[in-house]
Amino acid sequence: MQFPSYIKTCMDLLTNSGYRCYIVGGAVRDSLLKREIFDYDLTTDALPDQMRFVFQHYKTIPTGIKHGTLTVVIENHPVEITTFRTDGTYQNHRHPSSITFTHSLKEDCARRDFTINALAYHPSTGICDFFGGQQDLKNQILRTVGNPNERFEEDALRILRALRFAAQLGFQIEPHTRQAIFAHAQDLFYISLERITEEFGKLIEGIDAPRVLLEYKTILEVFLPELKKISLEDWNATLTAIAKAPQNRNLRIALLYTPLKDSFYQTLYQRLRLSNANADEIRAYIKYKDAPIETRIDMRKLLSQLPIPYASYFTYRALLDSRINQEACERECMSIIKNEDCISLKQLAIHGDNLKKIGYQNEQIGILLQECLNAVMENKVRNQKDALLQYIQSSKIF
Ligand code: ATP
Ligand code: MG
Repeated sequence: MQFPSYIKTCMDLLTNSGYRCYIVGGAVRDSLLKREIFDYDLTTDALPDQMRFVFQHYKTIPTGIKHGTLTVVIENHPVEITTFRTDGTYQNHRHPSSITFTHSLKEDCARRDFTINALAYHPSTGICDFFGGQQDLKNQILRTVGNPNERFEEDALRILRALRFAAQLGFQIEPHTRQAIFAHAQDLFYISLERITEEFGKLIEGIDAPRVLLEYKTILEVFLPELKKISLEDWNATLTAIAKAPQNRNLRIALLYTPLKDSFYQTLYQRLRLSNANADEIRAYIKYKDAPIETRIDMRKLLSQLPIPYASYFTYRALLDSRINQEACERECMSIIKNEDCISLKQLAIHGDNLKKIGYQNEQIGILLQECLNAVMENKVRNQKDALLQYIQSSKIF
């Protein structure tokens, strides 16, 4: 297994002080799957204070210290190191009421969610696999460590993590684990919206998202109940569109909500804790889902308003309607921009000052400029100062 030098430094410091230390969880899984690794989690038998001593010459952040997690910044990389621990009884279907530090790596692996996430690695011992994680990786199976009913009862977030890993990795969920997912779905009510949004986002951009959405729609309906309103025909069309779509979270969420009536869009923003930027992007796709794009005039009007890149927008439109020629639409937009066709107030040959000089008030000026822009885009008037002033006077808006 290859890993970066800062991880080696980290492991060496602990090992040279007489402690055991392993890479654990997602990094081991993704390395065996030859997937890109985003973060490394380390686990050790050193207690939190002992870790602090080992890393006394490094910047440390005691974010999760009560649960045994110390973040150490090595070579500018934050690395989370957690003391081997077992979890006590769980409260509110999410958090252990107490944790106990242990010297057993096996116990530490036993508290982890899925067998494929319960693998540990040290260069000198190789992979430690107490629960058949390597076999499950080979067979592409997601299976909880231990009794799935108990594991989902303890922490309902694992239900959504199971669906997310199934979608990301294209794995099947083992039948008992699957049954327990359906049995405990209602416990998702206990999970914070932030965590739901995070896992759901990874799920929907997963390579196998359409299959997971199809098989586990009723689970998603626990936190997105409006999905029940989508007709079977629309649902099938939506899944087909998502299957063809790039692995882009916002675009795929927009596709999911497109068949719903406008009144449901608001619920999406309430149910998922999307950032304003993400919510605005999703809203933009849906708002312009039926915008006319037949003529160059249509395109200019669209470009003057569209708050998202036109390439993503036409990807979305072409996914919804196979008759739309995405390339031709993009070419037309490119030509509008290259040709410097007027599509914004900035490009208009008159500005607020010109109108102020001839006696218009502030509120009137905004309306008149917008009217001029529309007229220019519709080829009713040339984008030329005198022509526009004459147009304003003859239009008699004020
Ligand atoms: P990724 O980083 O790709 O999202 P990951 O498996 O590394 O996937 P993390 O959230 O980084 O997920 O968690 C690291 C490890 O901690 C997991 O691999 C798993 O062993 C354990 N873990 C995380 N969340 C839970 C949970 N809710 N229940 C039990 N174990 C968990
Ligand atoms: Mg991780």
